Amino acid sequence: MKPVAFKYDAAVSVSDGCGALRDGANAKLIAGGQSLGPMLNLRLVRPGSLLDVSTLPEIREANETEAGVVIGAAITHAEIEDGAVRDPTGGWLRAAAANIAHRGVRNRGTIGGSLAHADPAADWVIVMTGLGASVTLEGPSGRRDVPMSDFVIGPFETALSPDEILVSVFVPKPAKDTRWGYWKYMRQVGEFAKASATVLINSEAGASRIALGALGQQPIILSSDVAEKVIGERMEVREALHDAFNAAGLPAEPENLALHITAVHRALAIAHADNN
Ligand SMILES: Cc1cc2nc3c(=O)[nH]c(=O)nc-3n(C[C@H](O)[C@H](O)[C@H](O)COP(=O)(O)OP(=O)(O)OC[C@H]3O[C@@H](n4cnc5c(N)ncnc54)[C@H](O)[C@@H]3O)c2cc1C
Repeated sequence: MKPVAFKYDAAVSVSDGCGALRDGANAKLIAGGQSLGPMLNLRLVRPGSLLDVSTLPEIREANETEAGVVIGAAITHAEIEDGAVRDPTGGWLRAAAANIAHRGVRNRGTIGGSLAHADPAADWVIVMTGLGASVTLEGPSGRRDVPMSDFVIGPFETALSPDEILVSVFVPKPAKDTRWGYWKYMRQVGEFAKASATVLINSEAGASRIALGALGQQPIILSSDVAEKVIGERMEVREALHDAFNAAGLPAEPENLALHITAVHRALAIAHADNN
């Protein structure tokens, strides 16, 4: 199948892009096209026009600040993997990027496109949630910052308004001695994860976080109290996930929990490893 006919334009600025989204007849943004391309071909989306933001200088920049790094939405997975972007986590971002699909996908796919697409199984969705990142959105009435925990609100659903553009992602610098583990289960490279988990250990500040992904919905973040108990081995992973699944209205039978429990155990082991 081929896409419906559409008009194509390269965006000249974020504000012009927002205007086009507001005024354009059924306009849609395209970045790397790695998710949108197949959807166009299958006619799951039928835009009247496509606005390409992949080369927009405003969202192709990455800037380091004392607090972390601001990564432009059109930065590709490959650029993060290759270290073209400062990684305030000391390598966690690079490792996550390198694990996304194949190099061909990483060369074109962008961090902003991945977050805006909000596939429940996407790597950046769970990693950015686990790292406590936030996104900056720009629309006709200005910019706003949204924590990742509020940005993805459902499967393929975000807090983006139809006339807003995701401009950048802010990744905070982890406190000294923070440990991190990210693990995902997939049957083979290039397939989306069936379960994923991140573990961020910062017990001294009481700021440890465990997040679960690939749930068919937005990630679940365990409460910091529960995360500390799991990390301190005062609560079993199985019990914590059983409660979290129940609270989220997800089926909590052993067969549904098994892969997710394994994901948390593996992420914990990675976080505790000597080379972390
Ligand atoms: C074979 C294959 C395997 C893959 N495997 C994985 C994997 O293992 N893990 C993983 O995480 N991903 C995987 N992906 C997805 C890949 O990471 C995509 O790059 C990503 O999901 C979308 O990024 P993109 O830049 O290509 O966005 P596009 O496909 O161009 O756009 C996706 C959506 O985001 C919107 N959008 C794009 N940019 C913006 C913006 N700045 N502001 C607002 N909306 C925007 C578009 O309108 C569209 O709705 C895979 C893709 C393929 C083809």
